[in-house]
Amino acid sequence: MSMKDKINIQCRRCGKSIEVNKWSAVNGDKNPDLKEKILSGELFTAKCKSCGNVSQLGYPMVYNDPTENIMIWLVFDDDEIGHIRSYYKTCKTQSDENGKTVDKECRLRIVRNTYQLREKIMIADCGLDDKMVELAKLAYAKSTQQTNSGEKIAVSFFSSESGNNRIEMYCESGKAFVAVLSDEVMKKLEDKYGGKASYAEDRVYIIDDVWALDLIRQYEAEH
Ligand SMILES: [Zn+2]
Repeated sequence: MSMKDKINIQCRRCGKSIEVNKWSAVNGDKNPDLKEKILSGELFTAKCKSCGNVSQLGYPMVYNDPTENIMIWLVFDDDEIGHIRSYYKTCKTQSDENGKTVDKECRLRIVRNTYQLREKIMIADCGLDDKMVELAKLAYAKSTQQTNSGEKIAVSFFSSESGNNRIEMYCESGKAFVAVLSDEVMKKLEDKYGGKASYAEDRVYIIDDVWALDLIRQYEAEH
């Protein structure tokens, strides 16, 4: 089930009140329309009827998709992360937003912004392992920086369009690079780090660049 509240925000340009839907829970399987709006970013924007200005919204949400077996918490407050972790640590089975028991093997993730939420949903849609994708993002950033000296990748994202999986990289200079994510690279990463990466299932939840760097560091120390 998806759940929403109606809230009012103030237009940043003209100051008029805008009524917006704030979704606290989205079920991507039952509400593909809402899922599409997360992917397009529309669910996190509000357009002012008076002046047309579009405001960006950021609010916590839990996204789940029972068919893909994922639950993603979008969290802005650091304290909230601790609450989620301790909640799942103490419960023997996982529950969805309605308290209904879900598959124990459900992939649980915590993300810190709407871009990461979008990315995790796309990775799951493509049937990929987000741990391997995070490692691939680092590998592509490294090779891109090596072939483009002076450039420093500030942030990178996985994206997929009509079956083409890509890594989008944005540099501190403002330049952007796009690389095709090859199956061969994914296979190599899986062979090298797959065994080590399985520890990620051990209630880590935040799978990002920090996690990937930490995993590589641990792997290097052992080999
Ligand atoms: Zn306005």
